[in-house]
Amino acid sequence: MITYTLPADVRGLIFDMDLTLYRNDEYYASQIRNQVLLLSADLQIEVEALDATLDSWESAFRRDNQGRKPSFGNTLLGALGYPIEKSVELRRRAIRPEDYLTADSLLQATLAELQRDYQLILVTNNPADVAVRTLKVLGVLDFFPQIIGLDTTGHSKPHPAAFDLAYRTLSLAPSQVVAIGDRFPVDIEVPLSYGSGGILVESMDDVYVLPRILRTLKS
Ligand SMILES: [Mg+2]
Repeated sequence: MITYTLPADVRGLIFDMDLTLYRNDEYYASQIRNQVLLLSADLQIEVEALDATLDSWESAFRRDNQGRKPSFGNTLLGALGYPIEKSVELRRRAIRPEDYLTADSLLQATLAELQRDYQLILVTNNPADVAVRTLKVLGVLDFFPQIIGLDTTGHSKPHPAAFDLAYRTLSLAPSQVVAIGDRFPVDIEVPLSYGSGGILVESMDDVYVLPRILRTLKS
């Protein structure tokens, strides 16, 4: 876990979903792989050629952006001009949380505890309906009455639109919010620039101790 500047008075938590609320590398890899396979068929480009195009765009992006890894949606947009609206459809076809994930009672207990002290909101680069399916499988859908998905703003994080909407939906100033996610450039960097706090989680254990970490701040 890496904690960045944490505000004194925290009222809301912005959660990322994938690799934050679950850890399943096989499932995460399948999300990207299945999108590539579907795209290869849709666009009639060989998988190897498609991989090469995406890799080359991503390398150039990293080189020009101090090593930051772009989101996959933004890679498709940049490398192929593939619009975010189409990424939403592609993800709906490619992503199968039901095949990989199961209910997490420790996560349920953690979010129940956090919900007593903070407003929770989910901001994800997956479509909102994929988020609903994922949260349902994990058994934590009820903890996120507000979900901002890729199709909600039409932009992929770290685009500021998703975070702007999260603050407005929570009716909180950025300085009252902490962003929690597994990718610094995608989940944390923009909220920090607005004056929010940030916590980079590197394991489920990091997530399970969040109530204690945030409580320590208050005292
Ligand atoms: Mg993530």
